[in-house]
Amino acid sequence: MTLTEKYPHLLSENPDGSLNLFVDHHMLSTFRLCEAKFAIEHMQNLRVKGLRAWSLEFGIWLHSAFERYYKLQQSGALASSQLEATVPLLTTWSQECMAEWDAKNMDWFASSEAGTYNNKKSYTLGGREGALALLLEYAVFNKDFNKTVIATEVGFGRGKEVPLGFVSVEHWGCPEVENYKGSFWNQVHCYLSGRADLVLQNGAKVGPLDFKTTAYFDGKEHEDFEVHEGITGYIYAIDKVRPELKCRNGWIEHISIASPKDGNKRFKQTLITKTEEQLEDYRQRNLRTCSKLLDVLNGSTPDWNTSVCTNIYHAKCPHHILHRSPTRDYVHIIANSYEKREAWNPETL
Ligand code: SF4
Repeated sequence: MTLTEKYPHLLSENPDGSLNLFVDHHMLSTFRLCEAKFAIEHMQNLRVKGLRAWSLEFGIWLHSAFERYYKLQQSGALASSQLEATVPLLTTWSQECMAEWDAKNMDWFASSEAGTYNNKKSYTLGGREGALALLLEYAVFNKDFNKTVIATEVGFGRGKEVPLGFVSVEHWGCPEVENYKGSFWNQVHCYLSGRADLVLQNGAKVGPLDFKTTAYFDGKEHEDFEVHEGITGYIYAIDKVRPELKCRNGWIEHISIASPKDGNKRFKQTLITKTEEQLEDYRQRNLRTCSKLLDVLNGSTPDWNTSVCTNIYHAKCPHHILHRSPTRDYVHIIANSYEKREAWNPETL
């Protein structure tokens, strides 16, 4: 089996025999966090049976809700300055969002089965009622919205819209392939994948907006994403997809999961600005990560980052049970406790 057959969600082959690698911010940051975690989740496409993660699922639900909202905004349907005039539309919007909440069975996170960590997150939000309240508060917060929506759902990836560069790999290929011609595969073209939910314009500034939730505001959330590959990647991507915009800015929309009791707002925006040099540095850093990632795809043993095994995003790594066991038990543990999942597809999330 060739590597493109083995990892079709990551690699494709060009007519000249060179390869293309497609990776998004989530994959690259997972690889940087722990190569072994990346190998399990994005090479083998395995996940622990029944495992559900609040931060991932709530984030996807919220992105979907806001995407619906901004589509309405872009259509001009929310243009009235009178909130009352938009109430029927917003009611339909919130009902659709809550139907999605139910379809995804988000109430499960409040159940005893979901465990303490998920329970705490769900409790902080206030469960289903809290989710609905958050949506409605967002609509009120945005009624004086002064940014123009330029685009929604800007996907990039397999169309090779956002090149990071290429990596030359000597004698790189798949030893299992008969008549393997390594020299054909010396060049691997690397592309960033993803989807920007929103591109906005505010005065002279144009850029993507990324939603980030936090348990509560501590007054310093504006510092949290000044150095962050996620938003920098979106700015880099929009600059490539829409070069006429000369994108050097982006916004983080901070959302407090806890509703502030003191009446303060639970939404804030931080402007992030990057220079051309910073975007070039981003490209080079991520190309370097691609180079290491290709090495692992090609058969090198992935490194373990044991400093985060018991604390990844405030929880134990889901693969802790696997990696604390003797190697000879892996096959048995994977057969019993893991399931195949669909490959991560950043363009459709
Ligand atoms: S248990 Fe540790 S080494 Fe294993 S995948 Fe998780 S973080 Fe990496």
